[in-house]
Amino acid sequence: MYEVNETHDPNLQSWVESANDPNTDFPIQNLPFCIFASAKNSDMPRVGIPIGDKVIDLWGCYGSGLIEAETRAAAAAGSESTLNKLAGEKSSYTALRRRLSKLLSTDASDADRKILGEHMVEAAECSMFVPSSIGDYTDFYCSIYHATNVGSMFRPDNPLMPNYKYIPIGYHGRASSIVVSGTDVRRPHGQNRSDAEKPPVFIPCKNLDYEMELGFFVGKGNEMGEPIDIANAEDHIFGVCLVNDWSARDIQAWEYQPLGPFLSKSFATTISPYVVTMEALAPFRTPAFERDADDPQPLEYLNDEQNQKFGGLDINLEVYIQTEKMRNENIEPHMLSRSNPKDLYWTIGQMLTHHASNGCNLQTGDLMASGTVSGKEKNECGCLLELTWRGTEPIDLPSGEQRRFLEDGDEVIMKGYCERDGFRRIGLGTCRGRILPAGV
Ligand code: CA
Repeated sequence: MYEVNETHDPNLQSWVESANDPNTDFPIQNLPFCIFASAKNSDMPRVGIPIGDKVIDLWGCYGSGLIEAETRAAAAAGSESTLNKLAGEKSSYTALRRRLSKLLSTDASDADRKILGEHMVEAAECSMFVPSSIGDYTDFYCSIYHATNVGSMFRPDNPLMPNYKYIPIGYHGRASSIVVSGTDVRRPHGQNRSDAEKPPVFIPCKNLDYEMELGFFVGKGNEMGEPIDIANAEDHIFGVCLVNDWSARDIQAWEYQPLGPFLSKSFATTISPYVVTMEALAPFRTPAFERDADDPQPLEYLNDEQNQKFGGLDINLEVYIQTEKMRNENIEPHMLSRSNPKDLYWTIGQMLTHHASNGCNLQTGDLMASGTVSGKEKNECGCLLELTWRGTEPIDLPSGEQRRFLEDGDEVIMKGYCERDGFRRIGLGTCRGRILPAGV
C-alpha cells in the first residue's frame, strides 16, 4: 500500500491556476489518468492527465525532454488509445506522479512551465473515452446494507444468505456494453412477468434503475493457477472510477434465479473517464468494515493486518437526478443519495484476492465494481429500488414530479470526491447518463 508522501502535501500549489480552485476535482495532489482526444492532436485518443481545467498530453511530454529515465516506460505508453500498457508499469507511473508533481508546482522553472504548457489542452475541448480495454468485468455485492435491504424485500425473515459474511459475492458482468460518462442509454426490452397468473411478456423495461458503485481497475495481472495473496492485493490495483450499473428490475426479478442477473444488467454500464490512482487515494484510507462481535472473521486467505487497518476507502459518493422537465425549467439536478465505500463489508483488496483465489487469472485493464454502495440511513441508499422501496414510496422532485423508477429523458449524475482534515480535496469526476426511450 502507498504511504502518504510529498505528492499529497496539502500546501502544494500549481502554476496552473484552475488546479488551485478549492472545488476542482483535479488539484496537483490528484493527477489521475484518462484517455482523451482533442482537435489539437487530430482527435487521436491518447493518454491524458487532468490538472484543473486542463489535460496534459503525456505522449507530447515524452518527446519534450521533460521526462526522466524512470518515468519513460509510463510516458512511452502515452500514445496508446487505452491505459492498459501504462497500468502494467507501476514503478514507472509512480515515478511519473512525482515528476509531474514537481513540474506542475509553483517551484517549476519558467522553461519547464513553457514546455509543459505546450502539451496541455482545455478539458472542455476534449472527448473522453473508456480508459482501458476491459477484457472482463466483474460486479460484486459488497454493501451489507444494500444486500440486507434488497434481501428483506424478497425474504423478510432471512434477508442475508448464509454465505454473505464469508464470501465477497459477485457475478461476471458484461464488458462490451461498458460506456463512458455522457453516453445515452436506451431503455431495454425484456421478459416481464409482473402478473404471476399469466405467462411473461416481452416489453420495454418498466422498472429501470441505476446503481451507484465504486469501480477499480486491475493493474498487474496474475498467471492462471497463481492466486494473489491478500497482503499483495493492492499491488494489482491500478486505481478507481465511478460506476453506474444500470439495472432493469422487472427483468431481473423474473430471470435472476437460479444463476443470477443476466440481461437485466448487460445492456449498459456507465463509468467515469478518470482513473484515480491508489497512490492519490493514500490519505483517504480507512480501516476495513467493523464487523459485529458475533460476525465471523474473514477466512485466513482474506485476512491481513494491513488490509484490516487501511483497506477501506473514504470517498463521498453522490447521486443526482435531472428529469427532462427539470432541464426545460432550468431546475438544478436533485440529490437522491450520499454514500461511502468505507461502509462496504469487504475491501477492494479482499474482492480482488477472492476473485483470484481459485487461480482465475486477472488481466491488466479488467474492471471490478463494488456493488451498490449503500449506508445505514435511508438517504444513503445507492439505487431507487431501495430509496423507493420497490416503488412503493415514490420520491418527490422539485419540479412537482415523482419517481418510482427512471423515466425516459431522466439523467442520472454521479459524483465522487475525497475530503479529510489536513489534506487537499480530490475528486473522481462525474459519471452521467441519460435514458432514451426503448427502440421498437
Ligand atoms: Ca450492481
